[in-house]
Amino acid sequence: MQAMFLRAAALCALVTSGAAAMAQTRWPSGAKAAVVLTYDDALASQLDHVVPALDAARFKATFFLANVQQAQVNRWRKVAAGGHELANHTIFHPCSKASYPADPRYVSEAYTPASMLREIEQQNTLLQALDGKEHHGFATPCGQTLAGGTDYLEELRKANLVTYVRGVVDRPEDARANVALLDPMHVPARGFGEGATAEEMIAYVREAEQGGGWAVLLFHGVGGDYLAVPDAEHRKFVAWLAVHRGELWVTTLQGALDWAKAHP
Ligand SMILES: [Zn+2]
Repeated sequence: MQAMFLRAAALCALVTSGAAAMAQTRWPSGAKAAVVLTYDDALASQLDHVVPALDAARFKATFFLANVQQAQVNRWRKVAAGGHELANHTIFHPCSKASYPADPRYVSEAYTPASMLREIEQQNTLLQALDGKEHHGFATPCGQTLAGGTDYLEELRKANLVTYVRGVVDRPEDARANVALLDPMHVPARGFGEGATAEEMIAYVREAEQGGGWAVLLFHGVGGDYLAVPDAEHRKFVAWLAVHRGELWVTTLQGALDWAKAHP
């Protein structure tokens, strides 16, 4: 009898968790999925190619700034004033020394969790000077969460310095469906780099559409800089999104998370 009850309880738990995983976020205006375009590292090719393409289509996106050049401060300020989201990507972009050749003072091995959090806090100050906002999201440099060999994510969560943390790793489709269930300290994203095509980006959005969730895309250079997606492919993708704007909600990462939280 007891075994039967336990089996029933286990089945019930399975059904419940299955239902939770299947429940979809109800996006605004009946959109079938949200599409979040994110661009890392404050690159000139984003100011030159991405911002004009997005503005022409009236889409808002998220830009994770690190190593901001003084000569581009006013351009980033205009990007923020135009309704795009500026977000934190540290000041010096520390990654592990194995990632790429870097100044040894600014590799993550040279940091501690405390110095990493201090740097994130200081980048918040720069961001507020650019966009006037008090709170910002964050993306981990190189998708890594170590400082001096210690994972700093939980300390970052406790310090309440950022509203979310975007990584660079995508999740299986079933974990993408309900954005309200997501731990904001582990926001997934799919990277598109060197030679990526509009077809690949569209296929990823179509997958999200079928799951009813969202697609978070991650770019670096567009038509320049590094890990560069061809400008023509990026434009083609933006044009496709514009054609499908009724069924897809193109928004910022903070915008999508805020909506999902308010409409569980
Ligand atoms: Zn980066």
